[in-house]
Amino acid sequence: MRLEPLQGSNHSRITYFNDGRTGKFISHPLAKTHVDDRGLQFSDGIYEVIAAENWQLIDEDLHYKRLVRSLKAVGISTSASKKSIHVIIMELLRRNGLKDAMIYIQITRGIAKRDHYFPKNSRPTLLITVAPLKKPSAEEIENGVVVITIPDLRWQRRDIKSISLLPNVLAKNQALPAKEAWLIDNGVITEGCSTNAYIVIASGAVKTHPKNNLILGGITRETALALAKKNKIKIEEKPFTLQEALNAKEAFLTSTTAKILPVVKIDGKKIGSGKPGKITRKLMKIYNDYVDKITKA
Ligand code: PMP
Repeated sequence: MRLEPLQGSNHSRITYFNDGRTGKFISHPLAKTHVDDRGLQFSDGIYEVIAAENWQLIDEDLHYKRLVRSLKAVGISTSASKKSIHVIIMELLRRNGLKDAMIYIQITRGIAKRDHYFPKNSRPTLLITVAPLKKPSAEEIENGVVVITIPDLRWQRRDIKSISLLPNVLAKNQALPAKEAWLIDNGVITEGCSTNAYIVIASGAVKTHPKNNLILGGITRETALALAKKNKIKIEEKPFTLQEALNAKEAFLTSTTAKILPVVKIDGKKIGSGKPGKITRKLMKIYNDYVDKITKA
């Protein structure tokens, strides 16, 4: 049987796919995994997302460190080194003609007969895709975004960047047309479905959930907090409640693709003046300057 490309698919898009035996650059619609891949059967895998701007990977080392941490946490060992992943990514950017891209890396425990127990000899599946970087709109950057709150139904190891994202997917869709759902666990806001969450309190300090098993340690979070400290913006890594958020002066969110975006409404209530706040704007500028320095290097 001839493999027909998916309808509307773009044959010029190139993806990297390694089924544990051979790795190849392949036309995106022809890249197919095995039905017994444990990623497909059990969500038994982890992933990473990196942004490229002007052919430069933003915070590449931090992303790679988190990838290795996630792999270790679930006991997947891969022979793919940081160097080889870097080479593949740069080749993908080149072949796809994308200087600004969202890079998606996924590693699963590999192909094995379906069984909960770890297979003895499976070899991890590695896939890397690149897609045009979806930047926030000028309107979102200028006027901020709206979020709603939803109960946090996820597991207790949210620090692992697991491909098991069903609760995140459900909450994100439930939140529509809001940009994001902020998740509430035990009375506190942990984070968003695909972003970290922050408020600016009366003292002018930025408050965000501490980095532990209850949130994903975002790379943008890490960099933004380090830049904030350097620029004398006070940070409180402490959980905050919905009530605190509703009374906050400002709010914002961060992620690799969104960078820093002001949050101007939570559950229909305006935050502060209902416009992006001063500290948020300042941090957005500091963060953008940081990215500019990397991309103009
Ligand atoms: N929290 C969750 C649950 C996420 O999925 C993401 C994005 N992957 C983030 C936070 C933000 O992380 P990063 O800054 O590394 O993109």
